[in-house]
Amino acid sequence: MSRVLILLGPPGAGKGTQAARLATELGLPHVSTGDLFRENKERGTELGRRAQQYMDKGDLVPDDIVLEMLFDRVARKDCARGYILDGFPRTLAQAQAWEKRAAQGTQVQVVNLVVPDAVLVKRSAGRGRTDDDPQVFARRLAVYRKLTLPLEAHFRERGLLNDVDGDKTPDEVFEKLKSAAATGVRA
Ligand code: AMP
Repeated sequence: MSRVLILLGPPGAGKGTQAARLATELGLPHVSTGDLFRENKERGTELGRRAQQYMDKGDLVPDDIVLEMLFDRVARKDCARGYILDGFPRTLAQAQAWEKRAAQGTQVQVVNLVVPDAVLVKRSAGRGRTDDDPQVFARRLAVYRKLTLPLEAHFRERGLLNDVDGDKTPDEVFEKLKSAAATGVRA
């Protein structure tokens, strides 16, 4: 049985940092849809061009584009034993598509990084990403609340959600994530 760990949480919650550390710790690949889009953008691919217009505004890339890219990525050999999802799913439709197509035969665990809005805004100011510009970041937060927040209830209802306090130092959060990952796995 393979294992999939989903990191949920608002922009700036620390998903990327923690997913990378967990990937090393657990020996599983780190699959970040945001990173995949940024790589495509840098390589100048058609996919990158299509995604950029949404990313620049702080909007979500349409589900069909995200899903095609994600399923391609997780079909690769290095994901056979499982993977860590960072930034996916971001909509209920994405979650349902993934569950239908890729969740069979996997142990799924969801960790929700909980961070107050004021802290998120402060953190975004220090990252220097173009989509961390204050107006774009505000849009990303609003989009998160509207489209991604319902996933908390979706996973909670399925008994898969573990809340972890993300308003701590990266090392403290990592320790909590490690123990959540070690103890809370649900099939
Ligand atoms: P991230 O690095 O996860 O913050 O993602 C950066 C941007 O990429 C987001 O603001 C979206 O525009 C886009 N993106 C990344 N993952 C997804 C996803 N699962 N669904 C839709 N858009 C996404």
